[in-house]
Amino acid sequence: MAEQNNTERVIIIGSGPAGHTAAVYAARADLEPLMFEGFMAGGVAAGGQLTTTTDVENFPGFPQGIEGPELMDAMREQSVRFGTRIKTETVDSVDLSARPFKVTAGSTTYTAETVIIATGATAKRLDLPGEDQYWQRGMSACAVCDGALPIFRDKPLVVIGGGDSACEEASYLAKFGSSVTMLVRRDVLRASKAMQKRVFDNPKINIMWNTNAVEVLGDGKLLNQVRVTNNKTGEEQTLDAGGLFYAIGHEPNTGFLAGQLSMDETGYVITEGKSTATNVPGVFACGDVQDKTYRQAVTAAGTGCMAALEAERFLSE
Ligand code: FAD
Ligand code: NDP
Repeated sequence: MAEQNNTERVIIIGSGPAGHTAAVYAARADLEPLMFEGFMAGGVAAGGQLTTTTDVENFPGFPQGIEGPELMDAMREQSVRFGTRIKTETVDSVDLSARPFKVTAGSTTYTAETVIIATGATAKRLDLPGEDQYWQRGMSACAVCDGALPIFRDKPLVVIGGGDSACEEASYLAKFGSSVTMLVRRDVLRASKAMQKRVFDNPKINIMWNTNAVEVLGDGKLLNQVRVTNNKTGEEQTLDAGGLFYAIGHEPNTGFLAGQLSMDETGYVITEGKSTATNVPGVFACGDVQDKTYRQAVTAAGTGCMAALEAERFLSE
């Protein structure tokens, strides 16, 4: 294993809005950050989740919206402009037991005084027949991001899942669609009572219990139907659907940390109060890897800024 001689002041792992915002702030503070942007890490291209979407209409500063990949290219360019060095490699492991911390990618180990974890999370998918063809053509894993798009207006919409996200997304989509059907695989919702009430009280939302989606169908361009089956009776139905939204949970990209940071039971990094500090001094976490509530580009960018400012303060102390 090759080892780099010089110790970096800050290494940033991950390249979504959180990582790039941290990079811009750290670079402008003359910390010369080294970023590992990943190579299809967690199944997502460098640039993060926004590289998998089309119009982003809720990132401030773009009144006409901007394509996700274009926004991420611009963020990368801004990081580089201020001196961020970027390696297109995935970090395989870290050693956070002593400072300087060790970060290993491929056959090289790098050392750093501070590390910013910005590796995001990946929305779970079902890999249904037809999903590859209709993904982002009527199918999405983020209703809050995509639900307001014109293609979903006044159409029957379908949400899969029974947790808080599914309830939140169904309530949100009910503002735009003609109706919303939730497909729930058991006969109960996992969501909190408050979220359940929101769904039960909304006349536009209908729940199909004990139901699994088995196939998505369309006209070649856009999805228009979902085939479902009742897992108790075996009865099959084909539902009209102008949109299908997965809300079956996310997987934080934290496997490479091998449990060296405090995480919650679902693998999200725990940060302290109103900060990005982890339980290891000098290691900070920002963006979706530590946030399962908001999961938006602008909130990820906000915490990326916080992580860089906190790393800078840590180094000066
Ligand atoms: P991510 O964007 O997840 O980026 C993390 C990056 O780190 C990835 O590139 C990953 O490959 C890399 N990485 C992971 N592990 C490693 C490793 N070990 N080594 C190196 N690199 C690694 N939000 C909005 O605000 N507006 C929208 O319109 C919107 N639309 C969306 C549409 C879709 C389809 C999806 C899936 C999400 C959407 N979101 C939207 C949510 C938004 O994309 C996320 O909240 C945001 O990207 C999170 O940013 P992040 O920097 O935390 O992580
Ligand atoms: P959860 O893991 O809580 O729920 C996932 C849901 O998807 C469950 O109903 C689960 O069913 C279902 N599901 C999982 N896999 C499949 C599958 N293969 N096929 C069909 N259904 C499936 O994830 P959420 O994203 O909803 O929530 C994550 C966390 O974020 C939770 O702690 C939640 O409380 C929190 N959150 C809070 C919000 C709020 O308070 N406003 C908003 C959003 C999230 P089953 O129940 O059978 O396992």
